[in-house]
Amino acid sequence: MENICVGVRVRPTVPSELSNGTYWKVEENRISLHKVHGTPISGLSYAFDHVCDGSCTNARVYELLTKEIVHAAVEGFNGTAFAYGQTSSGKTFTMSGSETDPGIIHRAVKDVFAKIQLISDREFLIRVSYMEIYNEEINDLFAVENKKLQIHENLERGVFVAGLREEIVNNTEQVLKLIRSGEVNRHFGETNMNVRSSRSHTIFRMMIESKVKDTNFSRDYSTSDAIRVSVLNLVDLAGSERIAKTGASGVRLKEGKHINKSLMVLGNVINKLSDGAKQRGHIPYRNSKLTRILQPALGGNAKTSIICTIAPEEVHIEETKGTLQFASRAKCITNCVQVNEILTDAALLKRQKLEIEDLRKKLQGSHAEVLEQVILTLWNDLLKHELEREKLQMELEDERKSHREHDKSIWEQQMKIVDLCDIVTSSGFDAKSGQGQDSVTQSLKQECNDSNSMCHGDTCRTPCFKASPKAFVVKRSSYLMLPDYSPLPDTFSNVVDEDTWLRINKGHIVDLDSLQMTPARKVQSFPSSDATPARSSENYRQEVQHLKRQLLIATEERNELEREHAEQILLNHRLMDDISGLQKEAKLILEMPKRLSKSVANCKDIYGDVLSIMQSFVFDEKSTSAKLLSSTSEIGMCLFRTLETHFSMGMDDHIPFTGNNSLIQEQRKVLYEKLNSTITSLVLSQTPTAENEQLEAKQCSCENKVVAWSQLSRFHALIMILFSIMLLGLFYLNFSAF
Ligand code: ADP
Ligand code: MG
Repeated sequence: MENICVGVRVRPTVPSELSNGTYWKVEENRISLHKVHGTPISGLSYAFDHVCDGSCTNARVYELLTKEIVHAAVEGFNGTAFAYGQTSSGKTFTMSGSETDPGIIHRAVKDVFAKIQLISDREFLIRVSYMEIYNEEINDLFAVENKKLQIHENLERGVFVAGLREEIVNNTEQVLKLIRSGEVNRHFGETNMNVRSSRSHTIFRMMIESKVKDTNFSRDYSTSDAIRVSVLNLVDLAGSERIAKTGASGVRLKEGKHINKSLMVLGNVINKLSDGAKQRGHIPYRNSKLTRILQPALGGNAKTSIICTIAPEEVHIEETKGTLQFASRAKCITNCVQVNEILTDAALLKRQKLEIEDLRKKLQGSHAEVLEQVILTLWNDLLKHELEREKLQMELEDERKSHREHDKSIWEQQMKIVDLCDIVTSSGFDAKSGQGQDSVTQSLKQECNDSNSMCHGDTCRTPCFKASPKAFVVKRSSYLMLPDYSPLPDTFSNVVDEDTWLRINKGHIVDLDSLQMTPARKVQSFPSSDATPARSSENYRQEVQHLKRQLLIATEERNELEREHAEQILLNHRLMDDISGLQKEAKLILEMPKRLSKSVANCKDIYGDVLSIMQSFVFDEKSTSAKLLSSTSEIGMCLFRTLETHFSMGMDDHIPFTGNNSLIQEQRKVLYEKLNSTITSLVLSQTPTAENEQLEAKQCSCENKVVAWSQLSRFHALIMILFSIMLLGLFYLNFSAF
């Protein structure tokens, strides 16, 4: 027998809540309440295994209160450490810690792997699971889809949570990564006392299996090996609450009530256990999920450590007293601890070891790390199948249980009928018919006893009711009182003829539409207690055939779904390709204004150069040519400015470049008009009139004429260039309008 290890951890004081009345003083392994001037208050001094003050680190708490349990777990002892205390007293800080000071869970995981490294003569298999109890429902933190899990108990595994995901792990980082992913699924909420208050109890579990290393691998599963299996529970409880203090309402209030209820049950269990073995009586483990799961750790086969966290502020004095009283009671509990060694040929470790060896051989030559990863994945797959199988077994067991209960109620009904027969007999039959009735009663009693002994005997066998024809009549009338149970042969006969009925019973599949009038069958496995022995076995055979058919259909449906799934994946890939192509195009379109803007800048430069060249040929500032040039320059610059504004708008807004049609159209119109008027004036200035010719003849010498004509022909060439540029500009305007 071994006492539970109990420690108290005082959270550092919150500066804003410093008191001037009383304070908690920590001296070695004692904590006591003192008045402000130092006098201890009598009756409020408590001693524990360890008491840690506000300066104590998680490393120290681990060293003092958990390390031993973790090491013992590696050696095959069950172990549990949990943090208990009011909201905001530091439970989560103790269990999970912070970046700079990792908590107990982190340290325990690291320690387990460090410890197994040192044990060279044993080989280990470690599995982890992480669950929370939220509003009295168990949820799997590793698999969000696993909700409302049920607790079961059997001889092999003791108390366990069915369907909980377990991951096989082989190093610390892997576990911490899993925990981080699980933390995301945890229920937190804000209350007046803690901005991130845990609204659920969480249980992180490590299942440690180990066996002595052997060198010769044996394929013989019947060889029994001693395997140690231990469970290490690290529990972060939700805080005990006073509703008034936390200011909870609505959802928070509902959570608070569940939390308080389960903590109250935990307190009751601790109280009962601390009464000592003789006075213990009934321990109410089953009154809450928390105590049910922790049952082996409380007064069972586990080394247990309770870390009671307290908030030292005066305002929390009542809660602190409550926590210390809880801790004092817990100190008296004794557990009976022993190494869990099992001898089983079905041990997971052995089977998996053989699988691993097979894989190693097959994958020889591959990279070691990849190999390890593949092996680990396969291990996990195997484990998941195991869990799945277990879940199905559990469901089957439930099914059988309800079946048995059903049989029992039928048996009770039969007994009632027998009693009624007795009453009828005793109320005056003639001797002959009375005898007959007696025999009916006897046969009924015999039959009931038969069926009852079957119920209580082989629990796994489906009970068989050996009914006499007379009894059948009696029982059928009792079924008629339960019209929901169908189809019965007589009910059926109203809908389908005898031939159809026989064909159905022989496994023939009929058109379901022809049976649409048949009353719905609400109970899947209705006992065939109204059948004769021959009929009964025939019915079983048909039931099996029917189930086989259903299985076949389900398999086909599953295959179909898998096919559809594969097609969907293919389609998704194609769509993803299309999307990436479109994204590339969109990127190009978005870049268009920038590129066009560059082109405009280049054109503008060229245009400027051309104009300056042209201006160098104009000698008279007031001549028609000069006027034409300035007008052309103005049109050109206006054109380029419009283009620049337009493209820069497209770039700045980061909107798809669509062009501003109305603005462009307007600009284009203005430019056309200006261009037309320029061309007209140019044509007019170049058309030789009689007056002009005479004037020229008079005024110019022959030499001057030659110079003027040569200038005019060069000017024509330049005008042509200018037109080309303007046409180019118009082309750009049109382009941008698209
Ligand atoms: P609980 O889980 O008991 O509701 P928490 O662990 O969330 O409380 O602690 C409440 C706050 O107090 C958190 O901000 C936590 O970081 C801080 N805290 C608790 N204990 C300590 C400690 N020993 N040292 C430093 N900070 C602490
Ligand atoms: Mg917490």
